[in-house]
Amino acid sequence: MSNKTLFQKIIEREIPSEIIYEDDFCIAINDINPQAPIHVLLIPKKPIPRLSDCAIEDKDLLAHLMLTINKIALKLNIDDAFRVNINNGEGAGQEVFHLHIHILAGRKFNWPPG
Ligand code: AMP
Repeated sequence: MSNKTLFQKIIEREIPSEIIYEDDFCIAINDINPQAPIHVLLIPKKPIPRLSDCAIEDKDLLAHLMLTINKIALKLNIDDAFRVNINNGEGAGQEVFHLHIHILAGRKFNWPPG
């Protein structure tokens, strides 16, 4: 059995997805079950399970992901209003244990989030 995460399979094109951005370090795809008109998942190619598993060696990657959010927001013309979310751990609703950042836009968002 493969030990690859779902997102590794997507990165390696074993599972199809709608890719909207890719570079050497990360990929962005449309979420299969969107929670807003725009719902993108930004995924590092390195299969870190959770944000809380990141170490100091990941600082450049994490910075790259943050700046890539801006790049994607500009590309999708949502740079004025978007929400970023990371579910960390089962108790916070994480289902896929390969770090990913949700980028949502196109509707009103409540605060605090549900
Ligand atoms: P999380 O609950 O933070 O782990 O988020 C996992 C996300 O992955 C959910 O929003 C799912 O809808 C999404 N997802 C699951 N399978 C796929 C897939 N094959 N392609 C795109 N998104 C997916």
